[in-house]
Amino acid sequence: MERVGFIGLGIMGKPMALHLLKAGYPLTVLDKVPAPQAELVAAGAKAAATPRQVAQESDIIITMLPDSPDVRQVVLGADGVLEGLRAGSLLIDMSTIAPSVARDVAKAVRGKGADALDAPVSGGQWGAEQGTLSIMVGGSAAALERARPVLETMGKTIVHMGDAGAGQVTKAANQIVCAVEIAVVSEALVMASKAGVDPAKVREALLGGAAQSAILKVHGERMIAHNFKPGFRARLHHKDLGIALQIARELGVSLPTAAAAAEMFNALLARGGADLDNSALVTVLEDLAQHQVGGKNTP
Ligand code: NAD
Repeated sequence: MERVGFIGLGIMGKPMALHLLKAGYPLTVLDKVPAPQAELVAAGAKAAATPRQVAQESDIIITMLPDSPDVRQVVLGADGVLEGLRAGSLLIDMSTIAPSVARDVAKAVRGKGADALDAPVSGGQWGAEQGTLSIMVGGSAAALERARPVLETMGKTIVHMGDAGAGQVTKAANQIVCAVEIAVVSEALVMASKAGVDPAKVREALLGGAAQSAILKVHGERMIAHNFKPGFRARLHHKDLGIALQIARELGVSLPTAAAAAEMFNALLARGGADLDNSALVTVLEDLAQHQVGGKNTP
């Protein structure tokens, strides 16, 4: 079996790495926070001190980091993956980052005689825990075939989107849909609730009709319960909308609805919600309506 390295053991990375251990892969792990790394070691993984060491001790290196600068630092920076990478190794970046950075990383990795895939995911914490993620892959078909058994421990839908960066473009499209859905589910629940109709019943009725969606089901429930434990941190969704709007700006594509959702995420971050679940977007709409979903009008 190929030796796998995993860097970034957060909300998504930790359960994904656990699936690899469960499948029997020899695993080396690294996170800048000690607790999740210790948890993986207790489950049978080996700890590394630097990304360079992870690369030296692995055939396939997976990164699951917050943002583009983190991936740049971990892969291309001092003591980074690139310094320890051997010819023939494979880097799979599963973080959501800018396609341009994914292309830069792939170029640098290929320059060392290794290969790279951008393989961002959708499906959230629950999908990571269940091993049912959707994985959108950019890179060569040969690299994907090599990676497939590893990816299949974490995901059920694995689609080859094209060469380097195509996975990240697909994920940006996914994040537009999710952000706009979160915004409109917020609007629907705030309006119905202020009109005196039970938002839990609104959600139940809408889930049986044309407006049904995973966002209405999962995020709608969190909005009604006011349970904003992440999940998916608002700061990360804000970051993803920035990526989508940047792609659009470069191409001359207008994204008026995504831009409106991005403005609402700006407001959520400004009111201290960066580390809340993205469903906390409803609180921005609640402030505007002076009404809390399922609760009282607020003066
Ligand atoms: P997270 O913040 O929970 O986890 C990121 C982890 O990376 C943290 O444990 C952090 O300590 C670690 N890290 C950061 N910099 C590091 C470094 N230099 N070296 C080692 N470790 C480092 O984030 P998450 O929710 O797990 O998301 C990870 C990525 O997946 C993001 O790009 C996000 O947009 C994407 N994503 C998240 C979800 C979700 O529902 N949470 C869903 C799909 C995609």
